[in-house]
Amino acid sequence: MAIRGISPSLIEEYNRCPMQLYFSRILEPKPDVPEWIGKVFGDAIHYFISTYIYKETQYPLGFKSKKNMIKFWCYFWSQIMNGDDKIFKRKIGEVWYRQNELPEDLKKKGIYILSRYWDDNINLPRPLFVELKIEIPYNGVHLIGVIDQIRINPETGKHVIVDLKTGKTYGDSDREQFSLRTNIQLTFYAMLYRMYFDVEEDCLAIYDLNQGKMMMTKRDDKDILFLQDILRKIIDNISNANYKRVFGKHCSMCDYQEPCYKPEQYFTGERELTDDQAESIIFSHIKELSQQNLQISNRERMVISKLKPKQKKPKQLKLKLR
Ligand code: SF4
Repeated sequence: MAIRGISPSLIEEYNRCPMQLYFSRILEPKPDVPEWIGKVFGDAIHYFISTYIYKETQYPLGFKSKKNMIKFWCYFWSQIMNGDDKIFKRKIGEVWYRQNELPEDLKKKGIYILSRYWDDNINLPRPLFVELKIEIPYNGVHLIGVIDQIRINPETGKHVIVDLKTGKTYGDSDREQFSLRTNIQLTFYAMLYRMYFDVEEDCLAIYDLNQGKMMMTKRDDKDILFLQDILRKIIDNISNANYKRVFGKHCSMCDYQEPCYKPEQYFTGERELTDDQAESIIFSHIKELSQQNLQISNRERMVISKLKPKQKKPKQLKLKLR
């Protein structure tokens, strides 16, 4: 088995397109492609909330005031965009972006989301757990999940598993509620939580950070059995190095268009493959692809470390955060 563990994002990636998962998690060295800035932004907001807002300080939300928090967010985001890997968990190289996704646009979006988060949470108790990592052995692999938050339902005293979302979530229509009810990531958290705490959660929730809205849902035994069936198939397919390409609308958001659509060009010269098995998998569809005459989307790109001169760290933050 070429992977360390199975996480909800791995399952979603595999369900979307096994070849995408192959590029992002199996192939070594990993293709050197620009990543979508929206994903960097989502990770940055998650990191900011767990690391700075819920840092142990004398203040309920980590900062003396909302203004101080926003100031720090602007500094934090600009440092990420300057390629600083000390303040964030990883270094960002080249990114690609769509309309309204320039760093400045996302800085403003972050200000909006965090201001809203501040207003909605300043008078609430802190979550019981933040970024709770659970890792459990399962059928020869490890199931790994990092639960954004666990909060207490004041009416039942039981745990609510909360997943934060910066992107589009679910509306109130029956169709969208069906998607919430069947969201595989939440089912994964429910299963992991039950294995770890040996008790059932109160409920699960998607916290839509754009709308400041919490959407609740439940999982039953049938959902867990359905997930276990998916896990079985994924473990089998990964063990047998079965990575099909699944073309579709989702390809427009895939970081790996270049190695996938034009493998012959991408994996030659400086990027020659080192792994024979990988080579046969990657090149297996070349003939078929060249007959389809596929085009790679025209994407705007930027190299993060060359964006702007470094911004000065706001003076007072040092005092508030340490
Ligand atoms: S471009 Fe499409 S088919 Fe290719 S790896 Fe990405 S999602 Fe899969």
